[in-house]
Parts: sequence; structure tokens; C-alpha cells
Amino acid sequence: MASIVLFGPPGAGKGTQAAIIMAETGLPQVSTGDMLRAALGQGSSLGLEAKSFMEAGKLVPDSIIIGLIKNRLQENDASNGVLLDGFPRTVAQAEALMEIEEVEVVLSIEVPDERIIERICGRYSCPQCGAVYHDSFNPTTSEDTCDNCSHHGMKRRADDNEETVTSRLETYHSQTRPLADWYSQRGLFQAVDGDRNIESVGESLLKVLSELRGE
Ligand code: AMP
Repeated sequence: MASIVLFGPPGAGKGTQAAIIMAETGLPQVSTGDMLRAALGQGSSLGLEAKSFMEAGKLVPDSIIIGLIKNRLQENDASNGVLLDGFPRTVAQAEALMEIEEVEVVLSIEVPDERIIERICGRYSCPQCGAVYHDSFNPTTSEDTCDNCSHHGMKRRADDNEETVTSRLETYHSQTRPLADWYSQRGLFQAVDGDRNIESVGESLLKVLSELRGE
């Protein structure tokens, strides 16, 4: 089976929508950002190599990311395809992906730049189950406790600050957005309006998917 790519700027809601699509399709989520943060947390050499790029809002070099994805896609749970979140981010990554995996569709969550900063700056998540929350738009019901798994103690990403977000957005426009055309030319690009509440965006994404699958 083929994989699905979740595409969009930082803070578009890729991680949040991944949970909805995972529940529907059963595909495991593969987030290169999460993998890099885990490597960083473990103090591995990969984490150390990636750290300065991540802190500056720049892309980690293609060779590192492509190696990471190649290994991940060889794991057993990836045999029926995966839900890619945050990969590919460059044309070189998309070309490498094409060599190793069929892509069913690229689902793009479109959110204007001016909404990104407010979304990212209030963002936090559960370190245990990965559920994503926001101070204003989607707070936990009980402070610092996850609604999904009851874990106590939420965390904020080091790169979710205004300065780094500006740089991450620039990186997105210059290096990642060109993939929209690249995938459109291959008939694989489907965009939905991501500037709506979580449920509406999720419904639109699932609708695109079921129409595509002829369900
Ligand atoms: P994310 O969690 O997807 O926002 O990724 C956080 C950071 O990890 C990015 O700002 C990049 O520095 C790095 N990163 C994640 N995925 C990739 C990728 N596919 N290519 C290059 N760098 C990446």
C-alpha cells in the first residue's frame, strides 16, 4: 500500500490532523520532527547534528533526513504505508521518497502566514501521547493534564517562539512550498483550507481521502 503525505507550513496542524487520519486509516504517523526531537532528547549523535539547524529554524541536511526515513520505512509497521508528517520538505527529499515508497496523495493544510505565529506561540503537547493543545484555541480541560491520556505535565517545543517561527516560515516558503507544484504536476496534490476549527479541517481531509479512494 501507499503512503500519505501531510503537507503545510509549520503550525498548520499537521500533527493534530495526523491523529484524525491515523484513527481512520490505521497508518502509523511518521514525523521527522518528532524523530529528531527524540534523538536530541537522547543526546545521540544524530540529535547533536540536527540541533543547531532546528534551533535556527533551518532544515536539517537532506542526507541526514533521507537516511532517517529510509530506515524508518523499513520497519515492520510501515509495510502497509505510513502517514508522513513534516517530510518531504525539499524536492531532493521528494525525489528520494519516490524511489522507496509510493505516495497515494499529498494532503496540504493551507494556513496564511499571519495566522501561523499566533498558532505556534501558544502551542503545547503531551509528552506521553503526543496530543497537541493551544493556550487559546484548544486548551486542556484541566490545567497541565492531558485530556487524552491523563498524563500530568505538558511540554512546549524549544523552537515554538516568535523568532524561530519567522525563520521556519521563510524556510517553508523558499524550500518546501515549491513541492506544491512538484506534486501538482504529478497529480498528487490536494489542498484544504486549514484556517478553520480542528474538526472541520479533519472532515475535509477525510472527505478528500474517501473521494480519492472511491468510497
Ligand atoms: P517539525 O516538528 O516538523 O516542525 O520539525 C522541526 C524541525 O526539525 C524543523 O524546523 C527542521 O529543523 C527539522 N526537520 C523536521 N523535518 C525535516 C525535514 N523533512 N527536512 C529537514 N529538516 C526537518
